[in-house]
Amino acid sequence: MIKCDKHGGYQMGYHVSPDLAGSIHAGRQIPPFREVTYCYEGLRDVNFLTESFAAEHEVTEVGDVRLPVDYPDWYVKLIPICEKCVEQAIGRSIDD
Ligand SMILES: [Zn+2]
Repeated sequence: MIKCDKHGGYQMGYHVSPDLAGSIHAGRQIPPFREVTYCYEGLRDVNFLTESFAAEHEVTEVGDVRLPVDYPDWYVKLIPICEKCVEQAIGRSIDD
């Protein structure tokens, strides 16, 4: 759970790349991004990465992928953001 000052209290959240987090917090137009979802025993971990972050960190994954044994290096750089803030920024709801 993530504490969100905008939506109040604690909210479910997603991990996003730092540049995407910056745009969402600043209320700016968000850059092109991709969704990478790790699937493990019915659990889904939804992550949003900008294309520039993905290119910089040589992320080749897209869509639903099996959870790797070790999280990739780029994963630790991701920032948790409130689900509602992400949905407002990308302009749609996310099913998971
Ligand atoms: Zn929020």
